Amino acid sequence: MRKSINVNIERKIYSESMGRCMNPACKAELFKGSGDIMEKAHIIPHCKTADNSFENLIILCPNCHTNFDKNNAFNAEEVKEWKKIRAAEFKKFFSEEYDNFEELKSKVVPLLLENQAIFENYYLGDKRELWDSAEGKILSNNRIIKEILQKNIRLIQSHTVKDFSNLAIVQRFLLHIDEFEATRLSEEKVRGALFPIEINSLFGIEPLEGKFLPSVESIECLITSLQNKGEFETIVLGQDKPYR
Ligand SMILES: [Zn+2]
Repeated sequence: MRKSINVNIERKIYSESMGRCMNPACKAELFKGSGDIMEKAHIIPHCKTADNSFENLIILCPNCHTNFDKNNAFNAEEVKEWKKIRAAEFKKFFSEEYDNFEELKSKVVPLLLENQAIFENYYLGDKRELWDSAEGKILSNNRIIKEILQKNIRLIQSHTVKDFSNLAIVQRFLLHIDEFEATRLSEEKVRGALFPIEINSLFGIEPLEGKFLPSVESIECLITSLQNKGEFETIVLGQDKPYR
């Protein structure tokens, strides 16, 4: 039987894609509306080496996958190169240093809002079956947010009192991003670094309202409700204080 792909490797290849087909000449958007068109492809065919490593897996749109597997439109070396090209493009597009916090905010807020909408609509809503693919979009957005924040960390004001330091909040957020990518909620059921809701205040984001039910401000509330039902365990590192 074909061995399944490790879920953490799957998360890495979603993140690597930045939400687009890895073929640099295609770059089709993989997450649109209520679904996704992403396909996992083996660079060296699975039947030859059964290699399910990160290096041998790549996310493609259905067209490019068919052209690669069945039509021999690209060879393995070429496709391997696509990983390097995407990594270089990523650096190029998201390594800009901004002059002020407002500029930084204008880049980060749309990504945070998109993640928030996906989370509230799919995870908390009644579309849990769509969460698995939507999560791929959050993973790629997170990578971009992380890169932008790291490049512009000097713009994040740092307080002397650590608990109320914006820099501390951003650093917790970066930790959360790494952990979110490395662990899968539904399998591991343990996450140390939760999404710090203070990030929303920092960037002036209101919680979504209306059709998104149950309405919660962040993943913490959801986890608390799961914990109350005995469906969830967490290890919380340190005390969280709301930033108001
Ligand atoms: Zn494609």
